Amino acid sequence: YQEWHLVRRPQGAPVDEDFELVGGERPRLDDDTVLVRNTFLSVDPYMRGRMNDGPSYVPAFRLGAPMDGGAVGVVREVSGEVKDSTGRAVQVGDTVLHGLGWRTHAVLPGRALRVVDTDVAPSQAWLGVLGMTGLTAYAGLLRVAGFREGDVVFVSAAAGSVGSLVGQIAHLKGASLVVGSAGGPEKTRWLVDDLGFDRAIDYKAEPIGKALEEAAPDGIDVYFDNVGGDHLEAALSSFKQHGRAAICGMIQRYNDTEAAPGPRNLALVIGKRLRIEGFIQSDHLDLRDDFEREVGGWVREGKVQWRETVVEGIEEAVHGFQALLTGGNTGKMLVRL
Ligand code: NDP
Repeated sequence: YQEWHLVRRPQGAPVDEDFELVGGERPRLDDDTVLVRNTFLSVDPYMRGRMNDGPSYVPAFRLGAPMDGGAVGVVREVSGEVKDSTGRAVQVGDTVLHGLGWRTHAVLPGRALRVVDTDVAPSQAWLGVLGMTGLTAYAGLLRVAGFREGDVVFVSAAAGSVGSLVGQIAHLKGASLVVGSAGGPEKTRWLVDDLGFDRAIDYKAEPIGKALEEAAPDGIDVYFDNVGGDHLEAALSSFKQHGRAAICGMIQRYNDTEAAPGPRNLALVIGKRLRIEGFIQSDHLDLRDDFEREVGGWVREGKVQWRETVVEGIEEAVHGFQALLTGGNTGKMLVRL
């Protein structure tokens, strides 16, 4: 049994010394709980925020205690009659989704897990395209940004787990133009060649503002922001009247040790009558059934694609997380145990 602890709050980019892999005895079953052997752990950008102290929408990780996060695994033992959060009986051998990642095994009550259907897609897809990041893309684009057929859509971090689905949903739902930005030619090629993006910008090769003006010369209606900083400025400049931004993440800022100045062109919000709205996916769980039906259907029909970048072994989990923050992933970043 092994679990990752946060032992020091990172200053800037997280380094190996901020974490410790701790071994010990496998947790024991209580009444009405199950023992899960984790098979895939999710590492996600929001975890960087949880490594800082201070108030946020999710509690900070405690120092010297195991971190947590999304995971899937296989049920090894069941004590008593356990039903999952949907009321389904849990049995040994079931594949389950839960929130006790960053460790090899987990003991959970039924309400804290969900049995997942591995006929639709492999188990780890429930951490990505059919899971938290998928719902983020779906709710953020369709509800928060109020996507409408014919919109011109720009999404940043477009080759990541959230962004790659945002662009595909926009395309499938009749956007007139889908533009994505990502770091490097392999990523931008994937967007255009395989995912149905109309245009892709390699923001590492050219300034994002000018590139966006060229990619969407008539302006954009929707910006799905995963990055913040210069990408948000570029979107503000390119917005048409009554443009809408869903602010999902600002990964450019997560390792900052001091607050950075806001977009220099924020005053454009007034004259362009823009609506800029931040959101947290967990506020939109009421959309989960629609999301699973619609995106699950596209996955089954092969209309939606996803990629994974997988690091192997619990020992590599921190390295996987560090790589995620610097663009070492295409699609969902995962740790396989
Ligand atoms: P991704 O799979 O998109 O991985 C993060 C990506 O961010 C990297 O691959 C990298 O891609 C890009 N990136 C890193 N640093 C920079 C930088 N300085 N400038 C531009 N791009 C950068 O992660 P997720 O899909 O899980 O998350 C995407 C965003 O959505 C994050 O901001 C995250 O915090 C947010 N999020 C918000 C949720 C919510 O409820 N609001 C829920 C889930 C995620 P590249 O190589 O292209 O630079």
